[in-house]
Amino acid sequence: MTLYHARIFDTPDDPFTGAGLRADDDGGLLVIDGAIIERGSYAQLRARHPTETVVDLTDGVLLPGFVDTHVHYPQIRAIGGLGLPLLDWLEQCALPEEARLADVAYARTIAREFVTALIDAGTTTALVFGSHFARAVDALFEAAAGIGLRITSGLVVSDRMLRSDLHIHAVIAYDEMRTLADRWHGVGRARYAVIPRFALSCSNDLLDACSTLHRDIDGSWVTTHINENPAEIIAVRELCQSPSYLDSYDRHKLVDPRTVLAHNVHPTYGELTRLGATGASVAHCPTSNAALGSGLFPLDRHLAAGVRVALGSDVGAGTGPSLFKEGLQAYFVQQLRGSDGVPLSAAHLLYLATAAGAAALELGAQIGDLSPGKRFDAMWLRPDDGGTLSRVLPHANGADDALAKIFALATPSDVASVWIDGVAVGPTQGAGQAGAA
Ligand SMILES: [Zn+2]
Repeated sequence: MTLYHARIFDTPDDPFTGAGLRADDDGGLLVIDGAIIERGSYAQLRARHPTETVVDLTDGVLLPGFVDTHVHYPQIRAIGGLGLPLLDWLEQCALPEEARLADVAYARTIAREFVTALIDAGTTTALVFGSHFARAVDALFEAAAGIGLRITSGLVVSDRMLRSDLHIHAVIAYDEMRTLADRWHGVGRARYAVIPRFALSCSNDLLDACSTLHRDIDGSWVTTHINENPAEIIAVRELCQSPSYLDSYDRHKLVDPRTVLAHNVHPTYGELTRLGATGASVAHCPTSNAALGSGLFPLDRHLAAGVRVALGSDVGAGTGPSLFKEGLQAYFVQQLRGSDGVPLSAAHLLYLATAAGAAALELGAQIGDLSPGKRFDAMWLRPDDGGTLSRVLPHANGADDALAKIFALATPSDVASVWIDGVAVGPTQGAGQAGAA
């Protein structure tokens, strides 16, 4: 049993329906076996539990662990490929690196780099785009299990339009997905996701194989891309002969409440209506959208249609795994949309990076905020000494201003401790800095 003493920020209720930031400036959390048992003022909790071990986190801010709903594990070394639109970036930057994961020793190295990068960024749960190679997907699940990261992932499949070494026949794809799902789905914190890369690279037979696997594996997920880039959208409509990008998945029964679609920068009204009706979620990846020049995300139209939205870092088209900068970029994008933009507060950004992702992954009963009953998945933000954040945070005018300063300035180097299920897992270079008293 451990009593954490901290300034605690979280968003248990949705700011898009009027809720605000929940802030306990001198809070306490009692954690037993990884579960949050009590939350309240530190003084009250200490009086009730005078002999418990106290972890003093007062020199910083305690936040829920981030939930990244769209991130490509094989692309960690492809970050920084600037200057290209989507289809050129894929061909010249991402896919050559993804092909290297055919070498399982290389894949294991990348898997370790990937999971530690997420942990160090304060991400404790992720929906991960796996690899085109089954053994590389095993390497990811093994690395995540080794460190404790909660992941939902699987084999990425394509059978056209990519380089041929990333193609797979639909029959073989089903067998490999099935083997991976049987090995990993529901084991520890791992869950299986069916991952057709995108409609352009998947035949009807392959999408049918994905749909069959999704039906056969109870509780499996579907994740893929949609409506990212105008040239891509036109190509999908022509090649798939579908009335919309969404329909190219929907007609194969791949759109339901366990579906997360990345980007959706250019949706039609009909697609948004259908997404809202199905309960599928959208992973908004704002730095990737900006880096590839994909466009400005129409958050207002998603909210109006009742479509669930959370954040993704995308990596490598994005600029690294930190959801602090994704939250900030989401804010920038809405500012740039002028009168159509949704004004985002710091509480909105935290919600999008935590509870919204937990809801999209149907993990809202376990994680996403720091309420009693939830698992203790959290990060301690203690600004790097000498950094700008360390200078401005003490002068914040209240909790909302402090959180805004954090989203404006925080980087992974400011994340001093990370816990999953109450176990300290980061930062991965040395033990966490959280002291015990
Ligand atoms: Zn992506």
